[in-house]
Amino acid sequence: MSVCRSFGLLGDPVAHSLSPRVYGAAFSHLGISAIYECRREPRQATASDLRRSMLGLAESGGGNVTVPHKQLAASVLDVSSPAVDRTGACNCFWMDADGRLAGDNTDIGGFLEALTDLDGLRLEGASVLLLGAGGAARAVAAACSAEGVRRLAVCNRSARRAETLVSEVGIDEVATVVLDPMSLPGVWDLVVNATSLGMSRDDALPLVLEPHRFHRAFDVVYAPGGTRWSRHAAALGIPAIDGLPMLVHQAVLSIENWFGAVVDREGLIGTMRRAVSEAESG
Ligand code: NDP
Repeated sequence: MSVCRSFGLLGDPVAHSLSPRVYGAAFSHLGISAIYECRREPRQATASDLRRSMLGLAESGGGNVTVPHKQLAASVLDVSSPAVDRTGACNCFWMDADGRLAGDNTDIGGFLEALTDLDGLRLEGASVLLLGAGGAARAVAAACSAEGVRRLAVCNRSARRAETLVSEVGIDEVATVVLDPMSLPGVWDLVVNATSLGMSRDDALPLVLEPHRFHRAFDVVYAPGGTRWSRHAAALGIPAIDGLPMLVHQAVLSIENWFGAVVDREGLIGTMRRAVSEAESG
């Protein structure tokens, strides 16, 4: 009889998350006996609280970390991937063969793969305006830098946190911190919302867009039918996606960390996308 392994998502809030549906569909598709659950890890959690929760899940399978704990998660790992070292943020963890708590950042790859849903935008030589400076923003900034963007402006409610992102992710050469993005001259190939604005229905838009200044918009936040901001962009004629494609692609990379390479990636992605569509329509 196969052992049922247990995986989970640690964060606060997590009730909205589609991850259990996405991973549940993936495990069935792959014939893996495992469950995936949301586990609220309070915002006030300390490093030792979070490490205890991560170890508990890692012993039975592994898991993911979401808002607001990705940076704290990176600090409690025993073994970190180069992507965690680069970003200072961890969203995927497991126990390695030596019983050490290991972690990766699959948001970087998830973000890059999701660009195929945005007319296959190429980041090399592009100008990117990044809103936010938390865990997700670190992954987006690292991806932009790795792909060779020409210009990256980082705007966050707390400017100090944006400055820390630029220096810790090591992107001083291409990136600047801006206080008011609308005061910046020029046009942008891509604007990315990596703040948590949009998670709640009552949230303000992260930025009111102007069609002639922004060529594409990517909201890392997701919601059934698109977020209010991705719909705002689309209504202005700006090609836009929300965070669902990124969620699916980072999940594939997480599964590969836990179980090894997936042979039929396209088939798995198709299954997970269908699970998301069914959640949206149901
Ligand atoms: P963090 O808590 O690390 O960062 C939150 C960010 O949002 C910070 O920049 C914060 O600014 C900003 N913010 C929060 N509230 C406000 C507000 N009221 N006004 C302006 N800015 C605000 O969260 P993460 O980076 O981990 O996650 C951010 C979002 O991205 C979440 O919705 C998460 O679900 C989503 N996400 C989606 C993924 C996907 O696969 N689609 C992957 C990763 C994340 P400050 O620093 O000033 O507090």
